[in-house]
Amino acid sequence: MNTDVSEFSTILQNCQKKTISNVSNVPSVRSCPNCKEAIEHVDACHNMGCVNCNRHFCFICLEKADDRGNLKCRQPHTVAPVQTPT
Ligand SMILES: [Zn+2]
Ligand SMILES: [Zn+2]
Repeated sequence: MNTDVSEFSTILQNCQKKTISNVSNVPSVRSCPNCKEAIEHVDACHNMGCVNCNRHFCFICLEKADDRGNLKCRQPHTVAPVQTPT
């Protein structure tokens, strides 16, 4: 996605919030914690693979998965704040 920073910021802040894996109010667009690519949530699961770098991460808390794609979410599972691209 070729968006400039201000546009990206607007998308991150104004995107729809949805319930993912029983956690409500999760932004439907996140910036990949690995490569910063904008990722729209499409699945029911919080474990999403980045379309750009293939890194898996948790859409709710933004913890990166390990090399085998296993998430290491901390409990309690809290929604990471809306990101601001830099
Ligand atoms: Zn990525
Ligand atoms: Zn998580």
